[in-house]
Amino acid sequence: MPSLGTPSETIAVLQKYHFNFQKKFGQNFLIDPHVLDRIVEAAEITKEDCVLEIGPGIGTMTQYLAESAREVVAVEIDKNLIPILQDTLSAYQNVTVINDDIMKVDIAALAQEKNAGKPIKVVANLPYYITTPIIMGLFESHVPLKSVTIMVQKEVADRMRQEPGSKEYGALSLAVQYYAKPEIMANVPPNCFIPRPNVASAVIRLTRYEKPPVEVKDDRYMFALIRASFNQRRKTLANALSNDPGLHLTREQVMQALETLDMNPLIRGEMLSLEQFASLSNIL
Ligand code: SAM
Repeated sequence: MPSLGTPSETIAVLQKYHFNFQKKFGQNFLIDPHVLDRIVEAAEITKEDCVLEIGPGIGTMTQYLAESAREVVAVEIDKNLIPILQDTLSAYQNVTVINDDIMKVDIAALAQEKNAGKPIKVVANLPYYITTPIIMGLFESHVPLKSVTIMVQKEVADRMRQEPGSKEYGALSLAVQYYAKPEIMANVPPNCFIPRPNVASAVIRLTRYEKPPVEVKDDRYMFALIRASFNQRRKTLANALSNDPGLHLTREQVMQALETLDMNPLIRGEMLSLEQFASLSNIL
């Protein structure tokens, strides 16, 4: 049985170790057992699974994961949390704690070592200051992944699911939808954390596609087009792409591609679906 997850248990551990929260690490610890159960349930963890937890904090969710998974690897940047984790996770033989910055960890090598290179599941209550680089890093580095079940800012979770034309639709929506199926699994209010964050949160599950939903000859080129389109989202697509110094495209080349695709020459990037970006990238 987990020994953490309620406000009183969390406060007792924090006091025992005189722990000071570090704002720069985005530390908001979960104190609601229902939310913890919901995350493990949403990630569909079984005794077959090897789970990577990013930012275990004092080990609250790690305990829940260790109960359900075969193996858990938890990567925590804050060295002051390591002695606490040694204590709170001492009953679990299937947990490895690594004191490092997740952005510097070779996750593919970790999956190789701990799961014979088979797909792992990532579960995390993410530090909000690096949500996007973490998600993009996981997908773009081609780590073998089954799914990523994460607590993020509600607004970011919504952005990942947006369709063309909405104000929040952007490069993150397209990248997530190229690699995975996004589903919001729970909405989580600030009072489920200590200290309380200033924003509402949500648990989103990203289930990795075995094959992307669109056919792209060069996905790095497609993402370069996507980034250029949204860097200047008020401009027409033809202007945004031809103005981008890295793409070396003329306005005429873009106009011609739009014509071939039977698209409005004045269209903005924010109106293009993933499928249309894929076609444009294949032509250009
Ligand atoms: N999982 C815990 C929970 O739910 O109570 C803590 C979640 S807290 C939102 C985020 C955690 O990520 C903190 O423990 C923080 O120190 C850690 N963290 C922040 N940046 C990190 C990084 N770059 N690499 C690894 N861990 C990081």
